[in-house]
Amino acid sequence: MISYISASYIYPVTVEPLKEGVIVLDSDGLILEILTAAQAESKGITNIKFYEGILVPGFVNTHCHLELSHLKGKIAKHTGLPGFVEQVIRQRQANDAELIDAMEIADRNMYAQGIVAVGDISNKLISKEVKEISGIYYHTFIEAMGFNPEKASDIIEAAKIMKEAFQPLNASIVPHAPYSVSDNLFAEIRKEAEADQELISIHNQETLEENEFFEHKSGSFLKLYEFLGLNIDFFKATGKTSLQSYLPKLSPSLKTLLVHNTFSSSADLDFATANHSSLYWCLCPNANLYIEDKLPDLPLFLKAELKITLGTDSLASNDQLSIVEEMKTLQEHFQLPLAQLLPWATINGAEFLGIEDRFGSLEAGKTPGINLLEYVDKDGEMWITGKIKRLV
Ligand SMILES: [Zn+2]
Repeated sequence: MISYISASYIYPVTVEPLKEGVIVLDSDGLILEILTAAQAESKGITNIKFYEGILVPGFVNTHCHLELSHLKGKIAKHTGLPGFVEQVIRQRQANDAELIDAMEIADRNMYAQGIVAVGDISNKLISKEVKEISGIYYHTFIEAMGFNPEKASDIIEAAKIMKEAFQPLNASIVPHAPYSVSDNLFAEIRKEAEADQELISIHNQETLEENEFFEHKSGSFLKLYEFLGLNIDFFKATGKTSLQSYLPKLSPSLKTLLVHNTFSSSADLDFATANHSSLYWCLCPNANLYIEDKLPDLPLFLKAELKITLGTDSLASNDQLSIVEEMKTLQEHFQLPLAQLLPWATINGAEFLGIEDRFGSLEAGKTPGINLLEYVDKDGEMWITGKIKRLV
């Protein structure tokens, strides 16, 4: 059955907003046509369901850790990253039933919050069954982690087995973070990624301490390695920031998501764009405020015209998994209207995940999901209130 929906505005993302435009849909949510108000009228279409608000495509959450969902409300805020990592390691153990329950609730909440696709970091296989029955599209990033160079081949073998086990779901093997992956392991991940043209994701410059560790081999990361019982005598300071130290170890042409970027400088952005041709920059503002109480220097990112995506990170470092809440935080801190934020929340993430043929914009031939956002019009710029209803 064909249905017609309209609202105060339609924001297709890939083309200009349409005032009172009409979306023509089939019963599977496939968009057949997008019409202007005048086109709908001239076609004599009358049975249009009209909503007050703005219709936007389903959101793409490019960075999540579903398997940490049981840590909601358990991790103290503003401890800084090394303290956060320590807390997560101490508290992440739970029985399988508890983990699965928490993941199912988180998955359903993301769906209700209008999220249609997720890039999800996994260390274990346990999220597979939740993902398989979910209404959300998942790409799993199997996170390889190990700073001890001697363990690289064991770690990559275990990651390959997990990738197989995740089939038929899409999965790729990725490095956790610059400070937790040895040169040998970076090389193994690169070999695997290049063989399969895979997507890469890595936590980048989430804390100032990360740069300090690479530049001078000092700061609170040393305490973290001590907590982890890891001898790091082999590590030599590079004299460069974290990003400038590790980026050359990644394949320069594979699509790569740099996550957080809270302490990336203008020189880092210049270095990155000069040395890598396919970078996406994922912002997780609510997690940054939760852990470090600091946000990335967004004006630098805008000036450099980087491809920005949004992520919620996990419920260990966020009160909810909602892309609308991430947009709202950026709107409040940087005075960015919806028109600027929306591509970050939709098409850029879809493009990174390689699913832009189905998701990311309101266009004929796509099944992108449709969300209704409440808005306030300030001098012709639309600002969201945070209220959302998933319609399709
Ligand atoms: Zn993360």
